[in-house]
Amino acid sequence: MSMVQSAFPPRRNSVGVQVGSIRIGGGAPIVVQSMTNTDTEDEIATTVQVAQLARAGSELVRITVNTAEAARAVPGIRARLDDMGCQVPLIGDFHFNGHKLVTEYPGCARALAKYRINPGNVGHGKKRDEQFSILIEAACKYEKPVRIGVNWGSLDPELLARMMDENARSGDPRDASAVMYEALITSALQSAERAEEIGLGRDRIILSCKMSGVRDLITVYRALAARCDYALHLGLTEAGMGSKGIVASTAALSVLLLEGIGDTIRISLTPEPGGDRAREVVVAQEILQTTGLRAFVPLVAACPGCGRTTSTYFQELAESIQGYVREQMLVWREEYEGVENMTLAVMGCVVNGPGESKHANIGISLPGSGERPVAPVFVDGQKAVTLKGDNIAGEFRQIVDEYVQM
Ligand code: SF4
Repeated sequence: MSMVQSAFPPRRNSVGVQVGSIRIGGGAPIVVQSMTNTDTEDEIATTVQVAQLARAGSELVRITVNTAEAARAVPGIRARLDDMGCQVPLIGDFHFNGHKLVTEYPGCARALAKYRINPGNVGHGKKRDEQFSILIEAACKYEKPVRIGVNWGSLDPELLARMMDENARSGDPRDASAVMYEALITSALQSAERAEEIGLGRDRIILSCKMSGVRDLITVYRALAARCDYALHLGLTEAGMGSKGIVASTAALSVLLLEGIGDTIRISLTPEPGGDRAREVVVAQEILQTTGLRAFVPLVAACPGCGRTTSTYFQELAESIQGYVREQMLVWREEYEGVENMTLAVMGCVVNGPGESKHANIGISLPGSGERPVAPVFVDGQKAVTLKGDNIAGEFRQIVDEYVQM
């Protein structure tokens, strides 16, 4: 009898890049990163948000460096983070005036662990080459890696116009989106080639080509990945708000990641007003974890509930235990190696409850309507105990704690 095999392509080989204490590409685990939305000139607010993102699990945090005051604030932000014991590397996002800022504010250039340069936003004509060179020379001088981050919303207009023109004059013109894809990739690769000519090593270059359409992004990254061995940063730009942003990012990145493409990811969610910026970090971790590429925290499997569930108790238990293990991971990570691979299940009744619970390291099947008011708990596939009474959630947490400490 032939058996179904689980087979996914291996990770694409890429040149490893060191960003502060974090390695990107070259076989390193896929890195989660995020970006602040505070005004970088506000040193305290930016420090607080960087620390929040790092605490949530962001391994690199990007901050915009858009003004002289922002550049002046960067060394202070770095120093405040260091004082708090937060070592997360900072990435400076430069557009339009980055060449001036890295020249006039060496303290900023030094405090950043990586520069992000958008080739579409460094200037035009001769100035473009000059200003791009200044940024790359600064990266060489201060020994910093660079992400050459192309974005379809700010693609170099001269390059696009030239490629559109060449396409129109060719005997077999292709559609406009094909030319756009090619222009994005050309912008990234030509800029990387130029950076190498100036003296930046391949082990200091990361590329990205962000778009906001799922199919567009997949098409462009497949082609980019096939044409170079630079480390790649993945992200669906302008993904949007709420479930749309999460679904679109997950759809695009999961396809690429499961094809072995991508060395670091950022999920660009538009937060609700007053919403939690760290949500994008949690989503990024969950994409990597649910695709089996990397584990961060024990994940809770839970059934959707149906007419057999008479209360929301099991949903509340699933949510509270997921929050509990996420919070506890800050401590557990230091003490209990591999705990992030633990799996939990919280199920609403006996239909699928015991079966699903047996697949998890620890599972609980709560009573559905008409069932006896008892909740069997399974540990590593074996029924361990039956909980009942008013403190099922507390007792279940205790079982989880004891399992971690075993
Ligand atoms: Fe409904 Fe039970 Fe299935 Fe949950 S496990 S969806 S409560 S039948």
